[in-house]
Amino acid sequence: MGAEDFTPGLNFIRNIIENDIKAKKNDGRVHTRFPPEPNGYLHIGHAKSICLNFGLAAEYKGLCNLRFDDTNPGKEDVEYVDSIMADVRWLGFDWGDRLYYASDYFEKLYEYALHLIRTGKAYVCALSADQIREYRGTLTEPGQDSPCRERPVTESLDFFQRMRAGEFPDGSYVLRAKIDMASPNLNMRDPVLYRIRRESHHRTGDRWLIYPMYDYTHPISDALEGITHSLCTLEFEDHRPFYDWVLDNLPVPCHPQQIEFARLNLNYTVMSKRKLLELVDKALVRGWDDPRLPTIAGLRRRGYTPESIRAFAESVGVAKRESMVDMALLEHCLRQDLNKRARRVMAVLRPLKVVISNYPEHQVEELEAENNPEDPGAGTRKLPFAREIYIEQDDFREDPPKKFFRLSPGKEIRLKHAYYIRCDEVVKDAKGRVIELRCTYDPESRGGWTKDGRKVLGTSHWVSATHAVDVEVRLYDKLLSVPDPANEKEEKDFKEYLNPNSLEILKGCKVEPGLSEAKPGQYFQFLRQGYFCIDPDSTASIPVFNRSVTLRDSWAKIEKSQQDK
Ligand code: ATP
Ligand code: MG
Repeated sequence: MGAEDFTPGLNFIRNIIENDIKAKKNDGRVHTRFPPEPNGYLHIGHAKSICLNFGLAAEYKGLCNLRFDDTNPGKEDVEYVDSIMADVRWLGFDWGDRLYYASDYFEKLYEYALHLIRTGKAYVCALSADQIREYRGTLTEPGQDSPCRERPVTESLDFFQRMRAGEFPDGSYVLRAKIDMASPNLNMRDPVLYRIRRESHHRTGDRWLIYPMYDYTHPISDALEGITHSLCTLEFEDHRPFYDWVLDNLPVPCHPQQIEFARLNLNYTVMSKRKLLELVDKALVRGWDDPRLPTIAGLRRRGYTPESIRAFAESVGVAKRESMVDMALLEHCLRQDLNKRARRVMAVLRPLKVVISNYPEHQVEELEAENNPEDPGAGTRKLPFAREIYIEQDDFREDPPKKFFRLSPGKEIRLKHAYYIRCDEVVKDAKGRVIELRCTYDPESRGGWTKDGRKVLGTSHWVSATHAVDVEVRLYDKLLSVPDPANEKEEKDFKEYLNPNSLEILKGCKVEPGLSEAKPGQYFQFLRQGYFCIDPDSTASIPVFNRSVTLRDSWAKIEKSQQDK
């Protein structure tokens, strides 16, 4: 590609596509596909691929197929098929009527294999898997020909048909492409096309005893679907010559172009389905949708929105070089999105009771509170205020350090949307732990402002003790305690780096009464605590909230919104 063909601002894949359109390649069509193997749940790396494939198709008024690359019976399952479809839809993409399965092509793939045998491009080989590896050679040494390489075409045809018919045991024979055992590219040294496997397939049942390899299946599936640009991750770069070889040697309808891009890596987590499966199988997490996992299902449960994940995929872009993306970027994208749409509410995670001794017993006031300062259309709500409230334990110190801008004996703070209170007395239990504060309020400070404009140390959130709803709150931290286990000096199993504090469960949290109505799919900002959503473990008596992400600078923000008034 010459420099004149490079349009700045476009990623390299868009560049290729635009040049293809200009050159009228594929009649100017753009047709991509997302080809997951249904052997696990999708993760954020797949989301990048989904956004890229469906996004490019939409951008160039083309099409994107969903295709299950299901050539590996045993590891695959309908549970995964269903979850993948749900996740792609949830991310906001639609494959229309173009849902395909590689297994639907088994018969065609078989016929194409016969074609390769007939044209002398494939042969049935009796070497074992270990022998094939030995014969393959190394990066510096050429391989050796299999003793079966010159098997006559008629014999290979006969053997291949009998492999299908079930005449031979598993592993006894394979079908191999006949390319070049001396190729500098190991993938071209007569790769295996078919193996015998007596395993039930989640779609074809026991109909097949031979299964095609991924590298053989993929280019043909792409061609049968009229794919124009076949995007995959970098590890397939060395497989591209074989991708092209398959298409060049078969009478397929078209020859899609394979384009590789760097896979997404995120720090402090794991992103291979094998590792994720291990965590799930060994119950080291609570399932594929554990909010600590980078699976789409986990992120959704955690409170991530499809919009935030799409924005993240866009912001990481596509490149030809592997890199590690900071988890903070993903969190940033979620904050950006939730800041606009999450209703602000008050929730006290670690409650400390406050009795306002000069507030009339049995009196309840309804105070007005804004729902979202970022969105005036979100309106206001009424908050009950009464003599007994809860504040956050952290918002009080008996012996405050110098820069402690919250409540302590004799000091005054503002209760958000309510009144100024001053701490008069500290009540302790037998062990000397603070269990209650006695405060007085300034009746002239309703709404949180005084006429004399006197300054307070800070603003606390609170809830009325009699009106609060008891909830459980789950706080999450990084799944791994190191950013990149592969880069640690000591090479340990990734599981040894699991962060033991990745989940903290708080019971007996107190939230404002309206939250008893909270529903899945609603997003909340608990003032100063972060963004939260309802977890499916919620019951009618005890709602459970997940913290989706913390608020950076929460304190500064509240102070600022107060000053701005
Ligand atoms: P894993 O390595 O996590 O097990 P995989 O590549 O085996 O994933 P597939 O189901 O084959 O999983 O992936 C479907 C599509 O998603 C492929 O096109 C693959 O290249 C892409 N993909 C998988 N992981 C990533 C990633 N981390 N970043 C970008 N794309 C990815
Ligand atoms: Mg794969």
